[in-house]
Formats: sequence, structure tokens, C-alpha cells
Amino acid sequence: MTQDKMTADARTFDAVTFDAMWSAIEPIGREASTGGYRRYAWTRVDASLREWFAGEATARGLDLVTDRAGNQWAWWGDPDAAVAAGRSGVVIGSHLDSVPDGGAFDGPLGVVSALAVVDVLRARGFAPSRPIAVVNFMDEEGARFGIACAGSRLITGKLDADKARGLRDADGITMAEAMTAAGHDTEHLGPDDETLRRVGTFVELHVEQGRGLIDLGRPVAVASVIRPHGRWRIDLEGEANHAGTTRLEDRRDPMLDLASTVLAARAAATAHGCVATVGKVRVEPNGINAIPSRITAWLDARGPGEAAVRSVVEAVGRDCGSIAVEESWTPETVFDVSLAERLSALLDDAPMLATGAGHDAGVLATAGLSTAMLFVRNPTGISHSPAEFAQREDCHRGVEALATVTEALAR
Ligand SMILES: [Zn+2]
Repeated sequence: MTQDKMTADARTFDAVTFDAMWSAIEPIGREASTGGYRRYAWTRVDASLREWFAGEATARGLDLVTDRAGNQWAWWGDPDAAVAAGRSGVVIGSHLDSVPDGGAFDGPLGVVSALAVVDVLRARGFAPSRPIAVVNFMDEEGARFGIACAGSRLITGKLDADKARGLRDADGITMAEAMTAAGHDTEHLGPDDETLRRVGTFVELHVEQGRGLIDLGRPVAVASVIRPHGRWRIDLEGEANHAGTTRLEDRRDPMLDLASTVLAARAAATAHGCVATVGKVRVEPNGINAIPSRITAWLDARGPGEAAVRSVVEAVGRDCGSIAVEESWTPETVFDVSLAERLSALLDDAPMLATGAGHDAGVLATAGLSTAMLFVRNPTGISHSPAEFAQREDCHRGVEALATVTEALAR
């Protein structure tokens, strides 16, 4: 398909419904002082978004099913009849929650585009032979309870139900209490095979969280892999003392070790083709006129392969003379290769891009489901910030691409 054709189709088929839906959710959860979004799981803002999603499902005559974890599925066609006949559904969608002061596009672009795809396919008179669902995953960002992709991790058994129930937000409210207050029963939290059986293929459309498509001059890409990533804690010991009276040669100042740790992380990341970030530190006692007694720093490292990432962490550990304690590790997630190749071919040889960000699609891929992702160009390259953006024309091209893919899969 040529880009001219995609633009023409976008104008004739999906622009109106996409634009109306986008306008409807744009004000929900937006913080006036920053322009960023604060859409956290199981809050009043979240309830408004879930209600909006349910309304869009009803308006299209889709059957709304809420699974054990609270993920919302809007079905076009009967998924259980399909399963009984040895088939399964084509699921599209993403999430509606955000990080603190996040952008408008991370998540909602995938949900709104998926609902618009239903309109596009119906306008074409398409009669799917596989049922199609639009999904809204619960608590993808983990902004409130600290665990990302909680909804998809719960139904695939990668997050223990009791652990999830007991997770606490900054006010000490547990996830179980928050869900119950929002009207969702937590008694049945846990692996949900009935829900997963219905999902034959999942395609998540997402705003790109980087500059790959800008450099390529293309509006849409297909995901190849989620790069391996991990988090490490580094403890640096020193000796608290007076900032005015302690001679330089008598100091044991862990702030100097922190400085060289940060520089070592940058140098090692450059050397091994990775990215490394020290974005969080805890300084004790954290006084302006006191040499610190102790500093804890957290290193986030991601890269093209496990060996490269581990080389970075080892180099940092050698430099700071301390052990980097692994707090989490996620191996490389490879999306269904033949599905990705098929999608790329359907989309005018759309480029394949790797990403350094986690997604529900990655969780489902790890659980063995056939999963793919489409990325829509982000002219700022910025994500998890109010500066995150996608041109409206590119959003429409994304809808068109997702419609093309969904039609081919559900035919
Ligand atoms: Zn996202």
C-alpha cells in the first residue's frame, strides 16, 4: 500500500471516529499545572476512563467482558463459540493508565485506534471469520502500586495474586482495597486461562518511545524484540563528617564514588552499545553541610543482548568497588517472528524496530501467545512526559495500518 493510499483511506474511513474519541478522553486525568496525565489504576480518573471504554463498546454493540484482573475486553463476535470450534480471537488494544505526568499517547493511542479499527472494518463491510476484541489492560504502568503490566501479569500467572492484593500505594492503600473500592471483586484474582484461551493473536499499537521512525522517515513500524533490561542497587559507604572542618585528605566521601559510578555507567554503556541510567539515588543524611555517610544508587541498564548489558553492570561494579545487587532482570522478549514478518509485508514493508520499553504485549508473548506490536512515529522521540506526541495524520495512518493487519488476521 502506498502512503498516498493510506492517507486517503484514513480521511475517508476513520478520521471522524478517531478524532471524536480522542477529544472525549483528552481532558480526563490531565493535570493543569504540568499538562501531563495522572491516570492511575483504580482511581476516580481510572473509573472515568473505564466507563468511557464500556460506553464505546456498548455504542458499537460489542460484548464487554471484565476478566479476573479487571482488564476490559470488548468482543465483536462470540469468542467462546470460536474456541469451541477450534479457533480463537484477534485482539487489538493497549492501556489507558499513565505514569506520573505522562503523555497523552502512551497507551490511549492503542485503545482509541483499536476502537476506530472496528468502525473502519464495518464501514468496509468486512465480516470477520474470527472474533475480534478491543482490550483495555489494567494498570500497565504500575504508577500506583509499583508493578508494571499488573493486569497482563496477573492473568498469565506472572504476578502472584496474594502479592498483588498486598501491594500498597504511597498512601498505604492496598491493591485489593483499591480494586474493591472501585467495585471489582479481588477474590478470583489469579491465572485466567478462560480469558487467555480466547486470544489467538494480540496486536498492540503503541506510540514509538524513541526516534527510530523519525530517522527512517516512516510513519509506522513493526516491533521485533523488547531488549533485555534490568535494575541494580549499588551501596556506597562513607563517613559522615562536617563539611567545613574536615580536611579533604581525611574524608571518606561516597559522593565521589557516586560521581565515578555514573561516569563509569555512561562509558561502559557507550563501549557495549547499551543504555545505562542512574535516575534514583538516596543520600544519607542528605544535608548540605555534611559529608554523606552512605549513598544508595539504582542503575537501570538495557541493551541489544544479555551479555552486553551484563558487561556494563560488571564494569560499573569494578569501578565503584561495590557489588551491584540485581533487583530485577527481564530477558529479551522476541515477538512472533513469522507474524512480525507478515505484518511488515502487509504494511508496505514497514521497518522492524527493537524497543527498550516493556509492554503488555511482551508479557503475553512471554506467556507463549502469538503477539505483535505496531509503533506510530513520535516526532519528539520523547515518552513518559507531556512532550510525547504523534501527528494526527500519523495517528490516522496507524489506524489504517492496524485495520489492514486486523482484517488480514480475522479473515
Ligand atoms: Zn504503554
